[in-house]
Parts: sequence; structure tokens; C-alpha cells
Amino acid sequence: MKQLTRRSFNGLATKGLLGSAFLANMPLANAFTTNKNSKKLGVALVGLGSYSTYQLAPSLLDTEHCYLAGIVTGTKEKESVWQEKYNIPKENIYNYENFDTIADNDSIDVIYVVLPNSMHAEFCIRAAKAGKHVICEKPMAVSVTECDAIMNTCNEYKVKLSVGYRMQSDPYTHEVKKYVREKTFGDVLFVSSDAGYVSNGNPDQWRLNKKLSGGGALMNMGVYAIQTSIYGTGQNPISVSAQEFSTRPDYFKDTDETITAQFKFENGAVAHMMTSHNANGNRLKCHCSKGWFELDPAHSYGPISGRTSNGDILKFPHKRQQALQMDDFAKHILLDSKNLAPGEMGKRDMIIVEAIYKSIREGGQEQLLSLGDLGIVV
Ligand code: NAD
Repeated sequence: MKQLTRRSFNGLATKGLLGSAFLANMPLANAFTTNKNSKKLGVALVGLGSYSTYQLAPSLLDTEHCYLAGIVTGTKEKESVWQEKYNIPKENIYNYENFDTIADNDSIDVIYVVLPNSMHAEFCIRAAKAGKHVICEKPMAVSVTECDAIMNTCNEYKVKLSVGYRMQSDPYTHEVKKYVREKTFGDVLFVSSDAGYVSNGNPDQWRLNKKLSGGGALMNMGVYAIQTSIYGTGQNPISVSAQEFSTRPDYFKDTDETITAQFKFENGAVAHMMTSHNANGNRLKCHCSKGWFELDPAHSYGPISGRTSNGDILKFPHKRQQALQMDDFAKHILLDSKNLAPGEMGKRDMIIVEAIYKSIREGGQEQLLSLGDLGIVV
């Protein structure tokens, strides 16, 4: 193993040529020492806005298996600030124009796209074509067609793909999935889930501009409520009906303000979700045949908090979700461990988003969904 360079090791691992049994039995530390320059995968952030600045970059100081190796920015002034703060070599700094030459940079293993939603597809595709593994922020794209294009390119260039669903790496989510799987409180029969906040400030921000965001609350926060409805029941819905409400049409000129939706599941369970850019919401409650469990808050950066009908208070040590998420993806790349947020999951959620918008356009008409197990990770 020692004579393998990082690139050849990654290439073999990506192609599955190292064998998952072999990798699973290899101590993690040994696996990472195959990286020539470092024991960690190099991550480049594309788009240095608030999420990269205040969450992802600090989290990359907290990761065990990856580190901030490079940046891609359209703002020249940010280059020296980030270079100094995170000790980033000059040759690992790119702009949107010369980005594709990152293909020649061996110290970048993973490209993390953190741009407005409508730019995800273009930059994920360019990243995959450069031969780099890809993390795409949520929502994965602004249409199912774009999700397919990202996934197809990642498959073609044999790179791994994950969506920035940090909740999938959070221990509270794992606990909820366990309750559902093991029927700790019986069958889950009704789920209530909401994800929203009150948007104020600059009416010109990209999140309120449909061309850049693809949609409003549903695209931004609604995907969390879709996710909790699914991991709260352990199944994909078989249909959805939805309604849209607006109380500040002067501010939300171009995008949805508040949306509610009802999901039906094959076993008869139902879920109700609410998402808003004008009402606070951050909760998951699962009502079961023998009790209930809930997370409140359920979707924020943590610590998450949870309770059950047994009187238990859920308590897990707090670690930045983004650090857990990026380490989970690094382990998926290097050790072939489970991808907790694969492209299929992002695409599945976009199919549901499109069905919700269609239901609203059709006056709340129920939309049938044929998702099978697409994107389900247990
Ligand atoms: P932001 O507005 O703070 O940053 C956007 C970045 O994109 C900026 O660096 C900006 O310069 C750059 N950009 C390039 N072209 C642009 C354009 N035409 N218009 C506007 N900005 C442009 O946004 P953010 O909060 O960092 O969100 C970025 C992405 O991360 C979004 O997809 C968002 O959904 C996602 N996000 C995810 C989470 C999470 O918890 N997983 C949290 C926040 C944001």
C-alpha cells in the first residue's frame, strides 16, 4: 500500500478494485497514510459565502479525514483573506474562469459546491469532469433534469457524489432512524414536520430570486421537512398534495413564502409538513402505535434536542454536523463505507419538490409518486 500515491489509491478505491472487505478490515489510520502528502483528503470550497465562511471552513478544522486544501471564488479580495486565515497555498486558489484547471492539482481530492442553487449543476459537472469527488449543497439542483445530469457525469467520470445533507450524519437522525427501523414505539402512523424561518432584509437576495434559487421556502427549508418526513417513517411517500400561502406578497414577489404538504405512504401512514420563509419551524414529531418521539429543534446546526413518550431525553455529544458529514464522505471515498447522502437522495427530494409545485398549480390535486426505495439510506 505504501507505494500507492493518493491519486492511484483513490482511483482504485473509486473503481472498487481494492475490495470493500479488504478496506473494511484495514485500520483507518493505515488507509489514510496512503495519501502521499497528508493523511487527509484535500477539500476545495467553491463559493465563499456565509455557509462556507461560518460553517464549512471552521468545520474543516474539526474533521479527522479531510481538510481545507483550496478555494474557488469569484471575489478577488477574498483570496488573500482566506489564504492567510487557512494557510492555503497560492496554487490551490482558483476563480470561476480557471476552475477547470483544478484537474491538474493533485492536492485537491474533493470539490464542495456552495453556490446559489441554480449554479450547483454547472459547477458539480465541471468538478466531476476535473476528476474530483463532489459534494453538492442542498437542494441538489433546481430540477430533476439537472440532478440527472450531475449524477450521470459523476458516474461517467467515476467520481463519488454526495449532497450536503448534514442532518444525515447527526447522531439524533441516526437515533430516529433506529426507532423507526426497530419499531421501538410501534409503527409510525403520523409524522408532523416543519422547517422555516422569517426572512427579512435585502429583497434582492438570491434566495428570493427564482432564477437563482429555483424557488422559495420549499427549495431552501422545505427539503429538510421532506427529509424528516421520510426518515421519520422510513419510507418514501406514494403521493403528495400541497397548498401555498402568502401574507407578504410585496416581499415574496418571485418565490413561495409558506407551503404545506401531506404525504401518504404505502402502509397507510401519513405525514404533514410545513415550510416557510415567514414563520419559524424546526420540529419533527413521530406519532406511533405505542407512543411517540420528537426532535425539537430538529434541523438546525445543533445541538439538536429530542424526547420520547417513555420520558427519555435524547442526549448525544455535540460535534459540528458539517465535520461529521465531510468525514463520513471521506470514509465513503477511502473505505467504501455507506454514502449517507447520495445523489439519488437529492434527486428523490427534487422529484418531490416538483410534485409539490405541480400540486399547488393544480389547486392541491394529489400527485402520485413512484419512488420505490430511491434515496433511502437506513
Ligand atoms: P451566500 O449568499 O451567503 O453565498 C453565496 C456565494 O455564492 C457567495 O460567495 C457569492 O459571491 C457566490 N455567488 C456567485 N455567483 C452568485 C450570484 N449570481 N448571486 C449570488 N451569489 C453568487 O449563500 P449561502 O448561505 O452560503 O448558500 C450557498 C449554498 O449553500 C446554497 O445552495 C444553500 O442552499 C446552501 N446552504 C446549505 C446549508 C446547510 O445547512 N446545508 C446552510 C446554508 C446554505
